[in-house]
Amino acid sequence: MYRRPAAVEIDYSAIEHNVRTLKGLTKQGTLFEAIVKADGYGHGAIDSATAAIRGGADRLGVATMDEALELRGAGITKPINVLSEPPLSAAGLVAEHDIIPSVATREFAMALGTAAHAEGRTARYHLKVDTGMNRTGVPFEDAADLALLLKDFPGLELEGTLTHFATAEVPGDWDFEKQLGRFETVLERMRVDGVEPGIVHAANSGATIIHQESHYDMVRCGIAIYGLHPGAAASRVVDLEPAMSVKTEVSLVKRIQMGEGVSYGLTWQAAAPATIATVPVGYADGIHRILSDRMSVLMAGEPCRQVGRITMDQIMVEVPRGITVTAGDEVVIVGEQGPSAISMDDVAEQAETINYEMACALGSMRLERKRV
Ligand SMILES: *Cc1c(COP(=O)(O)O)cnc(C)c1O
Repeated sequence: MYRRPAAVEIDYSAIEHNVRTLKGLTKQGTLFEAIVKADGYGHGAIDSATAAIRGGADRLGVATMDEALELRGAGITKPINVLSEPPLSAAGLVAEHDIIPSVATREFAMALGTAAHAEGRTARYHLKVDTGMNRTGVPFEDAADLALLLKDFPGLELEGTLTHFATAEVPGDWDFEKQLGRFETVLERMRVDGVEPGIVHAANSGATIIHQESHYDMVRCGIAIYGLHPGAAASRVVDLEPAMSVKTEVSLVKRIQMGEGVSYGLTWQAAAPATIATVPVGYADGIHRILSDRMSVLMAGEPCRQVGRITMDQIMVEVPRGITVTAGDEVVIVGEQGPSAISMDDVAEQAETINYEMACALGSMRLERKRV
């Protein structure tokens, strides 16, 4: 039941298609982890995970234990990786639900092993190596030592080894090469020490699309499974189908006189008599306020300029001369209408952010999600 004429429409078959396309870029046998953190980048974690699995995803990746447990609670049985080390206090929960954490400290690893061992189980974990992004993971200088230290710890099994790139979406980047080199050194040291690194993985969407040499045993794709590109270079390599559109309806149309202002502060004033359409979405729906007087929407198949300040629940749009709109007509914020289209990248650029943040905001704030 959609009581509000404003929704985020998700085409889950696009996610399925994108996973299949991205898998096609990897060698036969390479595992595919679909990243569904942050409620599937605003697309819905469970439905996105299910669609990705239909498309051939072998595993799922999330940011938090709550996200992992949500997938388990929905009956998803594929292996689930938590991409950074959970808090120490969650070690018992990790072991109990057979979630595969990324490990960066001996304290967490030992708490996990101890919890698993006490229940007569073995907890799988992946060693997360910081090769230069300086965000999470064990510093690359210490990674092989940590792996060796944990090798015979009861209740623990090293199932994989990963790193994460800071500049993967940029082709020919020297920092990317540096991170890859450091990762290689860690893997070599581990093998020399008799520690088998297991499933080796490093590539996010950007690296999956433009750095074949970083695929190893598994790739981890987030943004690209939703049909959005991690950068301009990637968009030239592969065709993806955007899964998210944002649509609503005109709620009111009125004529205003020259010199009349629109919205809070009356910052926009009509230079001539104008027709203004009110559209019932605002910054509480992820239409960031910075988009005021910058964005356009599609009405009657045409791009129309948004005018005046974006408010919490409404925006106003100037209806161009020659176009007729009435209350109830469809308004497209992101997506296609007739011959026109507005992409997530267009809106993100106008909002001075990236498609990742735009999708999270539009998909997870207030708009209802509708499958199409
Ligand atoms: C979020 C994340 C990814 C996915 O990144 P995309 O650019 O969305 O493909 C992969 N690996 C890690 C560790 C992440 O945190």
